[in-house]
Amino acid sequence: MMDYILINGLKKTYKQIEIVKNISFNIRKNEILAIIGPNGAGKTTTLDLILQLKKADEGNIEYWKSKPKESIGVQLQSSCFFPGLTAYENIQLFAALYKKRLEREDISLIFKQYGLEDVMNIDARKLSGGQQKKLSIALALIHEPEVVFLDEPTAALDPRARMEIIQLIKRLQSDGKSIVLTTHDMGEVKQLANRILLLERGEIVASGTIEELFDEWNATTVDELYL
Ligand code: ATP
Repeated sequence: MMDYILINGLKKTYKQIEIVKNISFNIRKNEILAIIGPNGAGKTTTLDLILQLKKADEGNIEYWKSKPKESIGVQLQSSCFFPGLTAYENIQLFAALYKKRLEREDISLIFKQYGLEDVMNIDARKLSGGQQKKLSIALALIHEPEVVFLDEPTAALDPRARMEIIQLIKRLQSDGKSIVLTTHDMGEVKQLANRILLLERGEIVASGTIEELFDEWNATTVDELYL
């Protein structure tokens, strides 16, 4: 399987504490890669380093394209939209930022796909948590990236919204995209992930398919991997 992104020996230290120790892995074409691990393991920091939102002390990242930013979509834990603008205006603005022409019908279709058609004219700040998350994902996908990074896409969502996001992620994969997500929801990992990285204290302590991790850790349920 083709590698989209190669991550070699990333390190990040804050105040003499090594938050990310020596992380290397690859992101493959069309896979769903789940990064799991306890609070503070370094998952978000690892994503931030890959996305160059933070500068790594050591290590490098090899992208398959000379203009990676155009091929990457990002939904971070913090809201990624412009407050004060409606959901519709946010889509318009992001499309303009990416110099993508979207007609009114195109935008309506996006809202329909995300089940947000009833709230598209509401200030994005006033949407519910789940709606904001969906809007953030829709915005991350406006420029049709090939690799999508989702930082805890289902955190704090009710079961229905969580299920909708899971379906959405599956759809992204059938559209040919690669998805990298962080999560604490092991059910989601089981439903979605082709490959898992288990991070602890800034290091990858296990990686592989869920079955491989079970074997390696002598576990029978996903929750046991987490303990
Ligand atoms: P969670 O599951 O809680 O989201 P995480 O695995 O994503 O956790 P990170 O957010 O990457 O973990 O944080 C890893 C560690 O780095 C934490 O101990 C955090 O306190 C520390 N850290 C993150 N950013 C900074 C910073 N700017 N300055 C100092 N320490 C930081």
